[in-house]
Amino acid sequence: MAKIIDGKIIAQGIKDEVREKAAKLFEATGVRPKLSVILVGDDPGSQVYVRNKEKACAEAGIETETHRLPASYDEKQLIELIKGLNAEQKVHGILVQLPLPKCFNEKEVLINVAPAKDVDGLHIENLGRLFAGQEPYFYPCTPSGIIRLILSTGAQIKGKEAVVVGRSNIVGKPTAMLLLGQHATVTICHSRTMNLGEIVKRADILVAAIGKAGTIKADMIKRGAIVIDVGMNRLPTGLAGDVDFEGAREVAGYITPVPGGVGPMTIAMLLSNTLTSAERFAGYR
Ligand code: NDP
Repeated sequence: MAKIIDGKIIAQGIKDEVREKAAKLFEATGVRPKLSVILVGDDPGSQVYVRNKEKACAEAGIETETHRLPASYDEKQLIELIKGLNAEQKVHGILVQLPLPKCFNEKEVLINVAPAKDVDGLHIENLGRLFAGQEPYFYPCTPSGIIRLILSTGAQIKGKEAVVVGRSNIVGKPTAMLLLGQHATVTICHSRTMNLGEIVKRADILVAAIGKAGTIKADMIKRGAIVIDVGMNRLPTGLAGDVDFEGAREVAGYITPVPGGVGPMTIAMLLSNTLTSAERFAGYR
């Protein structure tokens, strides 16, 4: 029976550390880390995510301000707002909650966030640095949270066979790059992959970031594998991952639950990145 990787507990450890360090930073420099969130439109999922981020920041001693803008907001004005925040000394992190309403050119908007304040780690410069094997200002939150979860098992990543299912810029591709950086042998699978089951079966480390409940079945998993389930699928029965959890836990060595696995880590890494940014701006690191 697989051991459960408890993302809530690991994330809480990171949040506690951020709170302590944020207090020390304030004591030493008078600087309080501040995250500026931009929420455009009224997507219910985004509203929940932003509220969760605001709450987590408050608990960790990070100040937030949220710019709630109507879906009809002008793109040029939005970019001006971002440029203003780039120049604002007291703002250390800028987060544009995605997805933006369809009428916005997401890439055009995001490229205007200063890479040094891109605490989501999704700016093209930060992703480019990651892909080029150079240190980005920030690692993207979900992928870096995934690496922390894998390392929490005590397993070595070096030399292991890792399979990432999903190739999005937010999760799949950067996670594969981070695993490669840790010297895993990495395969990326996607919707056109032939023989998905055979490839997944080779994985010592499996990351499922698909967005379709139950795609990864127990018989696809290598005995003893570390299984990280990123999927968040809203079903009538509640939230479900991409992995058949009940079946997979009979075979895997370690597995993350949904909810309570990757999700809490994403927020914890956002807090950690915002603190790092504030420390840098204060000349504290
Ligand atoms: P995307 O929809 O951008 O990407 C999904 C990927 O899965 C694509 O690369 C797609 O392939 C691939 N895929 C789809 N169907 C199959 C299939 N049957 N077999 C193999 N591959 C398939 O999603 P995201 O990467 O943004 O998110 C993935 C999941 O993770 C979602 O459930 C999302 O809600 C969740 N998520 C959770 C987070 C958290 O904090 N817990 C954070 C971010 C995301 P192709 O490229 O060919 O279309």
